[in-house]
Amino acid sequence: MKLYNTLTKKKEEFVPIEEGRVRMYVCGPTVYNFIHIGNARPMIVFDTARRYMEYKGYEVNYVSNFTDVDDKIIAKSLEEGVPAEEISARYIEECKKDMEAMNVRPATTHPQATQEIQGMIDMIQTLIDKGYAYNVDGTVYFRTRKFTEYGKLSHKNLDDLRSGSRSLLVTGEDQKEDPLDFVLWKPKKEGEPSWQAPWSDGRPGWHIECSEMAKKYLGEEIDIHAGGEDLIFPHHENEIAQSECCNGRPFARYWLHNAFLNIDNRKMSKSLGNFFTVREIGEKYDLQVLRFFMLSAHYRSPLNFSAEIMESSKNALERIVTAADTLKRLAETASAQELTEEEKGRLEAMKEYRKKFEEAMDDDLNTADAIAAVFELVKFANTEVKEGCSGAFAAAVRQEIVSLCDILGLIAERKEETLDEEIETMIAERQAARKARDFARADAIRDELLAKGIILEDTREGVKWKRA
Ligand code: AMP
Ligand code: ZN
Repeated sequence: MKLYNTLTKKKEEFVPIEEGRVRMYVCGPTVYNFIHIGNARPMIVFDTARRYMEYKGYEVNYVSNFTDVDDKIIAKSLEEGVPAEEISARYIEECKKDMEAMNVRPATTHPQATQEIQGMIDMIQTLIDKGYAYNVDGTVYFRTRKFTEYGKLSHKNLDDLRSGSRSLLVTGEDQKEDPLDFVLWKPKKEGEPSWQAPWSDGRPGWHIECSEMAKKYLGEEIDIHAGGEDLIFPHHENEIAQSECCNGRPFARYWLHNAFLNIDNRKMSKSLGNFFTVREIGEKYDLQVLRFFMLSAHYRSPLNFSAEIMESSKNALERIVTAADTLKRLAETASAQELTEEEKGRLEAMKEYRKKFEEAMDDDLNTADAIAAVFELVKFANTEVKEGCSGAFAAAVRQEIVSLCDILGLIAERKEETLDEEIETMIAERQAARKARDFARADAIRDELLAKGIILEDTREGVKWKRA
């Protein structure tokens, strides 16, 4: 499998540090609001990368953080008059719901910055001891120029940065030895969350969070570090500087960055009024459609979001689901079950689509071409599987569609809607069971309904139900 590495600006064959295992870190969201559809892009594309690597037999240790201490979280907590922890806890929960709806699997570990402060303090202390950081009145800075490889990820040269860095000097930072130096620890302001440290009561800088969490959960040297392309500089550049100077070894081997998502060909921003949360999109579409849309482009290409593109994504996904559904019906109603010799040959030919799919994914996770291979398979299904075929043939073709979609995290099986009528019948049956004092049966029916997402409430006016 080849991956494009921002560090070398080349597609490189992926070779993990430890055979069969992948240690992967993806920078997660700052939790001060519902996640927006831009945040969803790295979540979906790197979840797909993880799924594909697992499909190839790797055991993937996938770590993605929640940044739960930040100026925006503090601002929101002041605005609402509630503690910052309440804001971050609320939006972590909401983010997890969105992830589930987009079929983004939970990470192996989702560390939270506020739970890892001691490790960050230890890393900062090591950097000070090694001469890579210094304390001025309670603020600790990283001595950027001391790390001679600084700039290697963003391919920036220190002197170019220096000439453009006057703007990097913000008020209160004129105490830095060099404008390129960045903050590792800052003293608290009134009303802000803070932790005790040798330099001041304060909080960590953003960059040190990821260096520490990657180290704690994956080790000093990791295989893949990923995130949106806006993070290349300065966030990832600074992470490399901190980790490599502290640990004395290379940090991540492969750096993967997704391009940005734009809306109607413009940058998404609140002020332009073209800003959408995942939750808002979920009110109009099944979030599988959003996932399909995100994967229909290569992750390193800019992606444009518009109502028309969402509509066509919806229709395209529907074509796959309909094909799988038709095959299911054909498999269930077929009179013959056994594969014929001819069908065996057709199944052999069908392997071509999986091969194309894998070739696309092996080429730097080209999900656009992988989806094209799925559509070729759908076309094959629609033309080759007919009334009168064997049940085994229809089932095998259907399984192939479901399985390739599953690698992309797309669900090809139609969601079964439980009809109101069906619910009412089951409720009546439960009432009858209760009347007959068959409580085990009554409970079993309630659980069966719950599994379908139907919640029952026994009230004085009788049984009421709602969808979860
Ligand atoms: P943030 O919460 O801003 O730290 O962002 C979390 C992740 O979402 C990072 O990997 C960002 O690079 C990514 N991200 C933010 N906005 C967009 C966008 N419009 N398109 C793609 N990725 C984005
Ligand atoms: Zn990060």
